[in-house]
Parts: sequence; structure tokens; C-alpha cells
Amino acid sequence: MSVTVYIPTPFRSVTANQAYVEAGSATIAELLSELTQRYPELDQRLHDDSGQLHRYINIYVNKEEIEDLQGQDTPLQPGDEVSLIPALAGGAIGTPFTPTQVRRYSRHLLLPEVGPVGQRKLLNAKVLLIGAGGLGSPTAFYLAAAGVGTLGIVDFDEVDLSNLQRQILHQEKDVGRPKVDSARETLTALNPDVQVIAHDVPLHAENALEIFESYDIIVNGCDNFPTRYLANDAAYFLKKPLVDGGINQFEGLVSIYMPGDGCYRCLYPAPPPPGAVPSCAEAGVLGVLPGIVGSMQALETIKLILGIGDPLIGRLLLFDALAVEFRTLRTRRDPGCPVCGETPTINELIDYEEFCGVPPPTKETETVAAGAATNGTATPATATVPVASR
Ligand SMILES: [Zn+2]
Repeated sequence: MSVTVYIPTPFRSVTANQAYVEAGSATIAELLSELTQRYPELDQRLHDDSGQLHRYINIYVNKEEIEDLQGQDTPLQPGDEVSLIPALAGGAIGTPFTPTQVRRYSRHLLLPEVGPVGQRKLLNAKVLLIGAGGLGSPTAFYLAAAGVGTLGIVDFDEVDLSNLQRQILHQEKDVGRPKVDSARETLTALNPDVQVIAHDVPLHAENALEIFESYDIIVNGCDNFPTRYLANDAAYFLKKPLVDGGINQFEGLVSIYMPGDGCYRCLYPAPPPPGAVPSCAEAGVLGVLPGIVGSMQALETIKLILGIGDPLIGRLLLFDALAVEFRTLRTRRDPGCPVCGETPTINELIDYEEFCGVPPPTKETETVAAGAATNGTATPATATVPVASR
């Protein structure tokens, strides 16, 4: 008979970095004996001086903790999976992972840069997605799959047939439903660890601060300039990182605005006049493009949560889908920025429709816009980007 034993990351130096080992014991007590004979160094990791199992180690057989079964007399059947789950150091670490979580996140747990501590950070993270459309779909999918524990989605639009060309959270059966409902259903089906909070309202100056307040990171997948400026200002005022993304036709861009290191207004102090930059609804967008850009936003969000790598702070990533070219431009904080500069002139949220010279969104116009958009303001005019150096 053979059972599989999951070895937690802190113990793997003892098992030649193996995450899973096979064993042939008939009970948990026999299994512990078998393991410590095979890996003598494991003994003191598992047992105290009197030979008792450390109290900070839980052992699961499949989904049940052995204290809920027969303790160390719990019998093992061929094919059972036994998980050794120690409590983890660090203040943010709460309850141990369940065996299901250990299996679900096993490819993360294997990475030294993620591991149990990083996975716990993901599970504790709260991310707000602005828009459940072209960009929000892949971002939400990957964040949910990664185990980001709380995903807020703000979108007051309904699913339209023309959304399905790229907004992969939604299916044909969802046409006519609120996007937040469809999104929540899809994401919860993927990963029940994730709490999806639906904000089925238009984001505006009166509610943005209140909605943003409870999240750690804001991910922007909006499709219009007023919301883009509103998201920037609200994230800055609340000192929250903003993972920005935009697409148009065959081009995309991604950047992170970290309060103190520059903001969207440092790059674009004023919006283009209405109609000067066509939206996706007007100009079209290749369906797979938001998949790439939204996935990059998910990547950058996960890096921020984990604190790894070199996030796109102070840099603007441009993607040209036709040429298959990625370019990274350096951006800078503008000391004259009206929001984050030395002498800011905008110190609270303003009327963004008036600022951008566009009428406020309504359900009808939004549905039409989302027909091809949810994310359009890519601003492909890269020549206007203030570039400090390449
Ligand atoms: Zn700024």
C-alpha cells in the first residue's frame, strides 16, 4: 500500500527538497516512525524531547485533521494523502492551510519566493478591480486562481453579447445580467477561498473613497477618462497603489502609480478633448489584447502583494500586439502635478465628467460603450508621454 505525504516547505531541506514523498505505513503513528527512520533530521522537527508530536504541527489525512479522526491511531488506506502542516512564523499568519489549500496552491508553495508565507499574504490581500470587462476579466481570473482572498469588483454594467469577444468572465447565458453577478459566480466557482464583493454602482466622486477604503490595491480596468482620473486621485488621496492598464485596437499599456512616486496626472495633466482619442467602442479592439494586458496587471498586483521582483513603478510598459514588441519607458513624478506635486491644486475629488468634458455615464450609454470597450483609454499617443530616460 502507498500513501502520499505532503512535506511543508520548512521541512524540505530534510527531504532533499521533495514536496511529496511516498510511504507504506498503515497508521499515522507508523508513518511518523517510517519518516523519521528515513529522514532522521525530521525527528526533531516533528517531536519534542519527550517524543511527543509538537503541538504546533497539525496532521491531516485527506481533508480531516487527525484529532478529528483517531489521532495517531488513524488508519491509512492506499491512495490517502497525509499533510504535515506546521504553524508558520509571522504576524500575518493565521490558521494553517487546509489540505485542500495545500494542494490547490502547491505550485505556489513550491516557489521559495511565494511559499506558505507568500500564499498567506495572497489569501489575506484585498484587491479592488475597477471594471469586470476586458481587462478586469483576466485580472480577476488570475487573482482568484492565485488565492487573493478578497476581490472587490465595481461595475454597474450588464453583460452584452458584444462583450463576449474578450470579457471572459461572462458567458452567453449571462447576457443581460449585471456583470458583477456573473463575475462573482465565475470566480467563486473557480476558487471558493475567494470572497467576491460586488459593487454594482457607477464609480463617482461621492462613493470612490468609501469603496476604495477597504482595499489594499486598486486595479484599474475602466473604459473612460473621467473614471481614470477619479481612480488616480482617489488612490493617491488614500495612499494606495494603483495598477493601471489600458488598451486600444492593437496596443496596450500597464503601469503602477505608487503614491509619492508619480501618478497618472504626472503623465497626463489633462484629458484629451472628447473624441480626440477614440474609445474601444468606436475604434475596436482585438479580443485577445486585454487578455495579455489584464494578465500583466494581475502579475504586477501579485508582485506587489508578495513584495517580490521589480514592479512597474515609475515605468510604463507598452505592448504593440502587431509587432509583438514590449517597450518600457521611464516615467517621473512631476513636481508641478496638480495632485501629487509640491503645491497641489487638487486636494479633494472633483467633478470628473465636467473635468473631462463628457456627460455622466448612464446604463444605456455604458452598455453601448461596453459593447466594445471596457477599457479603452489606452492613449496610444506614446509620443506625449514624458519620458525621463529609456
Ligand atoms: Zn502626479
